[in-house]
Amino acid sequence: MFIRTLIILIGIWMLWQIFQGYKASLENEAENQTKQKKQNQAMPEKQHMLPCAFCGMHIPEQEAIHRGDKVYCCQEHRLADENQR
Ligand SMILES: [Zn+2]
Repeated sequence: MFIRTLIILIGIWMLWQIFQGYKASLENEAENQTKQKKQNQAMPEKQHMLPCAFCGMHIPEQEAIHRGDKVYCCQEHRLADENQR
């Protein structure tokens, strides 16, 4: 009789542990999602977009190719713009 009670108690304890772990993972996920949302919202403000001098496409400043006072989206457009003159 005592052993059966013990087994039931262990079973309840294990279920409780699983439930706690599940709850913690759900909370972590929700926290990560809100963090990601905040990051996504902050991104467009931080990124300075520049238009390509050749095709006019807007590209983030870090990815842009700077040549003098002009900015290009890729090496091909930089060369194409230079060859035009
Ligand atoms: Zn371009």
